[in-house]
This record gives sequence, C-alpha cells and structure tokens, in this order.
Amino acid sequence: MASETPVPAPPLTPFIRTTADGAHYLAGCRCTACGEIFVGERRVCAACCARGGLEAVRLADTGRVYAFTIVERSFPGVKTPFVDVTVDLDDGAHIKGTLEGVEPSLEGVRFDMPVRLAWREATPVNTPGKAYLTYLFLPA
Ligand SMILES: [Zn+2]
Repeated sequence: MASETPVPAPPLTPFIRTTADGAHYLAGCRCTACGEIFVGERRVCAACCARGGLEAVRLADTGRVYAFTIVERSFPGVKTPFVDVTVDLDDGAHIKGTLEGVEPSLEGVRFDMPVRLAWREATPVNTPGKAYLTYLFLPA
C-alpha cells in the first residue's frame, strides 16, 4: 500500500515562502539606493522613488509592536476578541498581523513589546477543507 504525502496548505499571501526543507519565512525587498526594506515585491521604492533597484530579502522573524487594536467584532464565525497588530520587524520592515498568546485586552498588550513570527495552517470559517498557510505573532 502506497503512503500518501499530505499536500501542504497554500500560502495566504505571495510573500509567504517555504524553503526546500519546509521552513517558512516572509519575503521582502530592500532598496539598493536608500536601504529601506518592504514586505513583498516592489518595482519602485516608496521611500526614495528609485525604480528597479529593489533586491529580494528574507525578512526578520522578530520585531516589536508598533500599534495594536483589540478587535471586538468581526466577520460572522470569527472568534472575538483578538489582537490586531502592526509590527516593526527588526530589519526595518513593517507588517500587520494577529498577535496571540496574550490577553486580548488593553492590559494584555503594550506598545514596543517584543514579538516573534509563528506559522499556522488555518481554515476559512465558511469553507472548511480549504486550509491555507498563514503567519501570526507571539510574545518573544
Ligand atoms: Zn529607496
């Protein structure tokens, strides 16, 4: 009897990448003119407007909470409350995400708290069986 290899869930966004050995990371780009780092691919630098000088980089997997909000109401079926964050990654990129592993309250989260990237296979509330790979943040 042949064994079946589970098919990995597809990434939620194009900037979620997986190495040949199965490790996940966030892909970004760095402007060779000014050094600014962005999430995902770009053709024009949003900081200095240089064109075509952006090189692919693997983004940092640690950072600090720049801003957050406690989400009390969401789409039907999505469990609330949860914490939505904007994170300044340690390499200078900025990214939004969900912070877990904390009390979803104003007392449970603080600005500038260190966080780290984590990965999960999630399933949309209304389409079970359509798992996807996504990222989240945890306290570091
Ligand atoms: Zn630039």
